[in-house]
Amino acid sequence: MSDIVTNLRDVRANIEAACKRAGRSADEVTLIAVSKTKGADLIREAYDAGVRDFGENRVQEILAKKDILPQDIRWHMIGHLQRNKVRQVIDKVVMIHSVDSYELAKEISVQAVKRSLTMRVLLEVNIASEESKFGLAPADVAALAEEVSRLDNIRLEGLMCVAPMTETPEDNREYFRRMREILIDTNSKSVHNISMQFLSMGMTLDYQIAVEEGASMVRVGTAVFGQRSYVV
Ligand SMILES: *Cc1c(COP(=O)(O)O)cnc(C)c1O
Repeated sequence: MSDIVTNLRDVRANIEAACKRAGRSADEVTLIAVSKTKGADLIREAYDAGVRDFGENRVQEILAKKDILPQDIRWHMIGHLQRNKVRQVIDKVVMIHSVDSYELAKEISVQAVKRSLTMRVLLEVNIASEESKFGLAPADVAALAEEVSRLDNIRLEGLMCVAPMTETPEDNREYFRRMREILIDTNSKSVHNISMQFLSMGMTLDYQIAVEEGASMVRVGTAVFGQRSYVV
């Protein structure tokens, strides 16, 4: 068996085990295989092993790969997105996980209207208030959610975070827990019928803990494809 097939089997088994520990059903969790920097041949291997959701963080990479890979792949934009690139990517992805400003959401809305499509989005939260990270402060989530929910052709479906790099993944449990609380709070406080349901959280290091704490999408790169040869 190829490495990717074995890796996928392990990751899926780990997700299932984490679901079991948390009393969740495994089909509540979508594995997004993060394929940034990886070539079409490796993506194809994961596809052949049943993966349909892939995550990328660069617009150029999505455009290049989408053309040459099966059309039923669901591409997820998980990286920081510049406003001037929205136009290029809007009809290429099923979801943008990284909305962190009203200006970006507004541009997504404008471009979605132009193409007569509705874009699903998540708000990215800088859950540990790290200087180096993109994302909203937890305290600003409710206000932006309210604003985004008023825009046309955009559907706010949940929250996303990139938890801190740590040697002890257990340390991130409190952040994942907090994400879930913010989601529930925002839904309940909203006067504008916001009903966010998805939590995109957990990476190679900590996806099992994220699943235990309620993740509905985990974004796993290294544990599926192996180490990346350069850092992006
Ligand atoms: C690269 C990346 C991942 C996957 O990271 P791994 O540690 O390789 O699993 C997940 N989410 C985002 C936003 C990323 O940029």
